[in-house]
Amino acid sequence: MDAIVKNFPALSGTDGRPSQKEAEDAVRVLLRWAGDDPEREGLLDTPARVAKSYKELFSGYDLAAEDVLGRTFEEVGGYDDLVLVKDIPFFSHCEHHMVPIIGKAHVAYLPDGKVLGLSKIARVVDIYGRRLQTQETMTAQIAKAIDDTLQPRGVAVMIEAEHMCMAMRGVQKQGSTTLTTTFTGSFKSDPAEQVRFMTMLRGWK
Ligand SMILES: [Zn+2]
Repeated sequence: MDAIVKNFPALSGTDGRPSQKEAEDAVRVLLRWAGDDPEREGLLDTPARVAKSYKELFSGYDLAAEDVLGRTFEEVGGYDDLVLVKDIPFFSHCEHHMVPIIGKAHVAYLPDGKVLGLSKIARVVDIYGRRLQTQETMTAQIAKAIDDTLQPRGVAVMIEAEHMCMAMRGVQKQGSTTLTTTFTGSFKSDPAEQVRFMTMLRGWK
């Protein structure tokens, strides 16, 4: 048995998801739809590889941000000012065309006595990135997950990303960047906090 099937029982089709074989057959159909021959030598292993890479690219469906963030947080001796993790790289796929979205997330929050391990913020970005997404939804989901679990005074999330569906097809606008933001709590109610977030973000590279 392929190692990946052992590691991911979902691939055996026992939980209502299609089996590995069904996924590979679907890739063969798409290869024929594109105009190629799935039986030619260079493509023989492609369906298995695509199914395997989908498991990784869309692994966010098997993870809950709440589990990663946990319920226990680090206590900090009096630190209550803005925490900003910027330039978190991510890859996602747009839910309209299943084509990559490549970008960076910037996440800030105002602690209320507790802070998160910094690597957990990056993992939350990954969990939502590894699903079919719109950039707007992903921005809001990251903010909500941190807001709900950590309950800080406020969360600010900005995502800047290039959508390959715009660059490679349709209007073919390469290099255009889409910016989205979500603010909660003090970031939402106090424009000065938004300005501080933007200043820290743009202030020094
Ligand atoms: Zn798209």
